Amino acid sequence: MGISFTEKHADTVDFTIQADEHIYSKKSQFQKIDFYKSKEFGTFFTLDDILMTTEKDEFIYHEMISHIPMAVNPDIKTVLVIGGGDGGTVRELTRYPTIERIEMVEIDEMVVRACQKYLPQTASMLGDLRVELFFEDGIKYISGKKEMYDLILVDSTDPIGPGEGLFSKQFYKDCFVALKENGILINQHESPFYENDRMEMLRAHSKIKGIFPISKVYQFNVPTYASGNWLFGFASKKLHPIADFKRDEWEKFKIYTRYYNTDLHCASFALPTYVREMLEKA
Ligand code: SAM
Repeated sequence: MGISFTEKHADTVDFTIQADEHIYSKKSQFQKIDFYKSKEFGTFFTLDDILMTTEKDEFIYHEMISHIPMAVNPDIKTVLVIGGGDGGTVRELTRYPTIERIEMVEIDEMVVRACQKYLPQTASMLGDLRVELFFEDGIKYISGKKEMYDLILVDSTDPIGPGEGLFSKQFYKDCFVALKENGILINQHESPFYENDRMEMLRAHSKIKGIFPISKVYQFNVPTYASGNWLFGFASKKLHPIADFKRDEWEKFKIYTRYYNTDLHCASFALPTYVREMLEKA
């Protein structure tokens, strides 16, 4: 019998990947870290038995967290990534020669080192001269920062364990203060489909829309995440993700992307009625 990885997507719904190898399993002071090799998804890793990133579909998540804000404000120069241990988000950001500084605040150095070894394609640009790594708690790191960043990307785990505080009202308030006037925050908005994820989506949205003048949600499809229907929040002080979308300026970067494109940019904010209604009531 081969090795398999199973994650509960809901109380009575399991998601299983038949793996060829379980290549790494260690406990850091924060979480259990496992890496597997599989035919369908290539190498993938999990934290506390929740799937984080797979070789096959990581481009979807990492393109959608980074290129949407960059196409709204192509003048972004300073970026803070909170979490992002696999390096995929940083890799996408380094494709912009205009970005001058990327701070990545990842609480667990063991995740980064393991991803550099087993997922080199996502962690490939962590050595870029513009990138500075901080192995700290993002909740503490952001507190007290004032008007320092054009963009904050919260590339965290779900709101359990070390990631829980990255969904708090205080954290979102601290992000607001740390952003410059044209600043944009992209955060995990989980998913509208299964009950637990839906509760987190509503909790996050209700907090953020009480702090940011502009608070929108966009969707994309990640086959290995619960229901496949995943959401990011787009929050800002001034810039609207569609009204301020700079299609032509973004195209000039000539960045080849496999999931994001400028038609999908606007379409991703067109949400199903049941999701829109839930968010309006949040
Ligand atoms: N980018 C991946 C994806 O495609 O979804 C997953 C996100 S990344 C692996 C999540 C990271 O957030 C983990 O490495 C975890 O250690 C980190 N993290 C969780 N809580 C944190 C905190 N309070 N401060 C900084 N990093 C945190």
